[in-house]
Amino acid sequence: MKPKKSLGQNFLKDKEVLTKIIRAANLDADDLVIEIGPGRGALSSEINKHVKNFIMIEKDYNLADEIARNFQFSIFNPPADEADSQSIFNNPILNFKNKAAVISGDILKLNLIELISKNNFYNYKVVANIPYYITSPIIQLFLETEFPPKEMLLTVQKEVAERICASPGNMSILAVSVQYYAKPKLLFYVDKNAFWPVPEVDSAVIKISDIKNKISKIESKKFFRVVKAGFCAKRKTLLNNLSSSFHLDKKTTEEKIKKAGINPGARAQELSVEDWKKLTKFL
Ligand code: SAM
Repeated sequence: MKPKKSLGQNFLKDKEVLTKIIRAANLDADDLVIEIGPGRGALSSEINKHVKNFIMIEKDYNLADEIARNFQFSIFNPPADEADSQSIFNNPILNFKNKAAVISGDILKLNLIELISKNNFYNYKVVANIPYYITSPIIQLFLETEFPPKEMLLTVQKEVAERICASPGNMSILAVSVQYYAKPKLLFYVDKNAFWPVPEVDSAVIKISDIKNKISKIESKKFFRVVKAGFCAKRKTLLNNLSSSFHLDKKTTEEKIKKAGINPGARAQELSVEDWKKLTKFL
């Protein structure tokens, strides 16, 4: 079967990298693991050796079917036609008795809250070499949900990993968006030749831990309004960006920024998540 570029199908073939990922995942036999995009099962086979409770979500039906057969797992959502697949995702009263299954479908259409709450999956880990074209939406999905995982171990594009784990001085909206909810850490780099077909970019494995699930929607909405305003024009100072976005005169804005203990002449990329939280209080 020819790998589908449109689905980000670059399969991991390097055994040493697999071993490092599994070691970093620090799996316990009782862990419940969700893997996004098992593909041809390179990482899945290793995960399956370590845990009893394992759910895989794969968009490519042929791969999902193959892996379900190989692992002797149940498969959900065989897409006889589009209507069928929609109905399962809209009514996912999926009852995984032994918590070992493959769901054939799009991770971004999955009703994660129902999947977790109806099956009592609360304490789960995500371990995955994710499709790079949807890196941000996948991370967002799992960090913003009511029931986040206890940890995520993800292989992502190297540059994206570095951006997510950046420190003040090199921050971006992506870095703030992840670090607001959790602690990301870049564990190690993976050369592009570890995959088949060889992708254009190198990769890195990151761990996202300490994920908070008690942040209210109102609180996060307020926070990100300030962050987006601060980042709206990259070269401009915080003072200029905030005063224009919030329609405040420069003097009032300057006072508010100073009250938060921040230099009004700073640029958004210099601020930490804590700085943004203080700013949110005063704006
Ligand atoms: N885990 C495998 C490995 O390490 O060899 C494959 C990783 S490959 C980078 C990404 C996988 O995600 C592919 O199997 C692809 O079909 C699947 N995929 C792509 N888009 C998806 C989506 N929206 N939902 C679920 N799986 C998806």
